Amino acid sequence: MLADRLKSLAPSATLAVQARARELRARGVDVISFGAGEPDFDTPERIKEAAVAALRRGQTKYTEVGGIPELRQAVCAKLRRDNGLDYEPAEILVSCGAKHALFNIVTALVNPGDEVIVPSPFWVSYPEQVQLMGGVPVMVETHEATGFDLDPDRVRAAVTPRTKLVVLNSPNNPTGAVFSRAAMEAVGRLAVERGLWIVSDECYEPFTFEGRHVSVAALDPEIKARTIVVNTCSKAYAMTGWRLGYAAGARPLIKAMTDVQSQVTSNPTSIAQWAAIEALSGPQDTVAKMAGEFDRRRRLIVDGLNRLPGISCTMPKGAFYAFANVSGLFGRALPGGKPLGGSTDVTAFLLEHARVAVVPGVDFGSDAHIRMSYATSAELIREGLARMDAALRGLR
Ligand code: PMP
Ligand code: GLU
Repeated sequence: MLADRLKSLAPSATLAVQARARELRARGVDVISFGAGEPDFDTPERIKEAAVAALRRGQTKYTEVGGIPELRQAVCAKLRRDNGLDYEPAEILVSCGAKHALFNIVTALVNPGDEVIVPSPFWVSYPEQVQLMGGVPVMVETHEATGFDLDPDRVRAAVTPRTKLVVLNSPNNPTGAVFSRAAMEAVGRLAVERGLWIVSDECYEPFTFEGRHVSVAALDPEIKARTIVVNTCSKAYAMTGWRLGYAAGARPLIKAMTDVQSQVTSNPTSIAQWAAIEALSGPQDTVAKMAGEFDRRRRLIVDGLNRLPGISCTMPKGAFYAFANVSGLFGRALPGGKPLGGSTDVTAFLLEHARVAVVPGVDFGSDAHIRMSYATSAELIREGLARMDAALRGLR
């Protein structure tokens, strides 16, 4: 009955964990969720007020497909202010979240059989979106020993005549890596040399805890010309439910993506667009405050994880995820139980015996790990770690 492309489609594992935790809570089970990555902060008041004012002004109708001119202008100003990047409004497309922006990109660029290089571990939606277009995701490993930094030699070795795109995500979901400037520059040069496109997903930009965020597009004008920068209001402004993301890139490509969007969703919600103008243009103090809080929680969770039996975790440099190595638990079991064999077993064990929800690393390309979002309160992090400790001590 269903189209062939559905045969290989996996639903989003991150959203599935969140749904499962929600369902258990609704049944009265006390679950602590380190599942989906979304800030536990509320959207700042000034942004909500801007949405209310837009509603009251009657800004409730269709807008320009690619976003109202005022918002595209605000995106240009943001990219200049924070990233040193110059774009014109015609080089900006506003979409229903960064996820939608990414889907517009693959729809506009990927032919069946085209290859897309994705550093691994990777965020779950990249390979799935590519496969929906009939493209082939090509995973290129990064390693724990280098803090999961991008490896330009491996990227180069993976390029074939069918390679169309390289996806860079720094700060990285799920590893928390911040790719080194040298590695990004080498991949940028490679893209220029071989005529590849780079997607630079910078959704976790404000959560760069060591050093400053650098966009690959800012490294060189030739690299910028081959890059589509993707960002979102979801994380920086705690606006996950508003669904507001954007892309910046070469005019013909942005036009093609806008044409795709015109046949699929039309404009993103008008009210959310007005809120996004305030988010991007207003005072940015809430962003720094939230980043400071996540930085404290980062240390809390990573130190705590490293004290748990059978678990180790390197200190992530960005985003809000701890990517913990759980391979030390493999082969262990509860008395009379089945030994843990992979990240899915560990995830199920933690949910059942610790009432803690995490995402199995296998969905991000590494079965030796689990991902824990620490965009949750310090109190819940402490409680969650204590529960994990108690449960893990039962393993033999
Ligand atoms: N890219 C990455 C790396 C993400 O983790 C997410 C999930 N928040 C997104 C894109 C999509 O974000 P949104 O659609 O909410 O803007
Ligand atoms: N991106 C977040 C995560 O990885 C939110 C869920 C999703 O869109 O995948 O958990």
